Amino acid sequence: MNLAVRWVCAIAASLAIVACDSEERGRAHWYRADATNPIDVEMPAGALYISQQFFQPSAGPPHAGIDIIGPRGTPILAAAPGKVVASHYEPLYGNRIRLDHGVDGQGRRVFTQYYHMDKRFRRVGDRVRRGQVIGHLGSTGVLGLANHLHFEVHRGVSEAEAVPRDPHLFWVNGVGKVTCFRAGLGGVAQGLTFPTPCS
Ligand SMILES: [Zn+2]
Repeated sequence: MNLAVRWVCAIAASLAIVACDSEERGRAHWYRADATNPIDVEMPAGALYISQQFFQPSAGPPHAGIDIIGPRGTPILAAAPGKVVASHYEPLYGNRIRLDHGVDGQGRRVFTQYYHMDKRFRRVGDRVRRGQVIGHLGSTGVLGLANHLHFEVHRGVSEAEAVPRDPHLFWVNGVGKVTCFRAGLGGVAQGLTFPTPCS
């Protein structure tokens, strides 16, 4: 892909207008120039493209998670073992699921959220294993303009205190080191794994 096409692709993808999928694997869009805490992100070669990073401005609309661009129907994987605490459709974010992963190594409760799914396969109360397929990537909801997963991590001393945090802080391999799912990992205290399969 030449540079001009790459730019158009990246800009369009950041606006979630078009999916520039396969050739962008292993790459992540840069943080906004005014992001307060940008992280150096290392992507495994086979991971789907991240088209938009976490952003929490002092003013203006935040982006409370990361956007992962991929084909409709791509399996969505639980980022750690946990329990389904919300699973429903709503107009803005479409089909969405929230998982409660329990308490991490620092005594903080960790939740993950998955938006715009084409299909949901889990109900409230279900227990899920790390890497288990909980739905399919899609574009449901008014904000789901292209096929992508909007993925959020919330963390706090309690559910009421849990706030959105940059997902890149919590990967199994370390800060900024996007980690593909692999078998044999433990609970959320070990960290999170990428919520779509790596090819
Ligand atoms: Zn998003």
